[in-house]
Amino acid sequence: MTASDIYDRLSDKSRPVFTIGVAAELVGVSVHTLRMYENEGLIIPERTQSQRRRYSQVDIERLQCIRVMIEDRGFNLAGIRGMMSMAPCWEIKGCSESDRQSCEAFESALEPCWMVKAKAEACQNEVCAECPVYKEVTTCHNMKSFLKEHWKNV
Ligand code: SF4
Repeated sequence: MTASDIYDRLSDKSRPVFTIGVAAELVGVSVHTLRMYENEGLIIPERTQSQRRRYSQVDIERLQCIRVMIEDRGFNLAGIRGMMSMAPCWEIKGCSESDRQSCEAFESALEPCWMVKAKAEACQNEVCAECPVYKEVTTCHNMKSFLKEHWKNV
């Protein structure tokens, strides 16, 4: 591997390189807390072939955002989940009217779209962790900017 390859790898913020222990240390929480965030649907870490979690720099930023929401703004986990559920995935994905009507995410104010079970057909074969809707909600502490950028009719 050349120095340039190494540099490219280091500068790729989406590359999942941190173990759960390192991610927890970087964010300043326990490993248990990171697992809880995952169970609550706030983050989807990458899994290795042996099912070990791996976090990227982008994931760390998302986790830091969650910490800001909790510590500085007084949100609990359900509140953060509810706020993430406001991301207008149907606009970003361009879902048809019939897709919207068959998708739980269009109605739910409790869960973000990547957590709902009854997804629209347009999303059934998608990998949520790679979807722009999931990825761009890293700016969860400023949902208004996210809405302005993605939902021009707001
Ligand atoms: S692919 Fe997943 S994250 Fe993207 S809009 Fe569909 S349910 Fe949401």
